[in-house]
Amino acid sequence: MDSPLAYDEGLMGRALTLASRAVETGDVPVGAVVVDADGTVIGEGWNARERDGDPTAHAEVIALRAAAAARGEEWRLDGCTLVVTLEPCTMCAGALVLARVSRLVFGAYDEKAGAVGSLWDVVRDRRLNHRPEVRGGVRAEEAAAQLLAFFADHR
Ligand SMILES: [Zn+2]
Repeated sequence: MDSPLAYDEGLMGRALTLASRAVETGDVPVGAVVVDADGTVIGEGWNARERDGDPTAHAEVIALRAAAAARGEEWRLDGCTLVVTLEPCTMCAGALVLARVSRLVFGAYDEKAGAVGSLWDVVRDRRLNHRPEVRGGVRAEEAAAQLLAFFADHR
């Protein structure tokens, strides 16, 4: 289960590219991919709250839905890894636990709303019987720079 850092960094590159697409619709750049145990991408998403007028249209939720749809009736994402450019919020942390994702890899930490260590630690709460493995801070500087550039333009 413990993937090499280079593998996670490669997937983060794809998530960063997806994140840049959010900017086209005025959305905060956050991107996510879901890969199965073989390393095949089965879901992708980027933040689309403004585009869709949907407060739940976070990159992670969109990617998890796509991955579950790709798996057909087997919506449980056992063996899958979710890779996202920003530390998940409470909603997304809850969603990835419900989806039974095995691993979470994220980029920048979110000190204002992060639920995977910053403000809360939803996914590693010992009261839960499903706890994914976590690697945070992967290509964090690039993910943070992308967000800072967006907010500099939209202030
Ligand atoms: Zn979220």
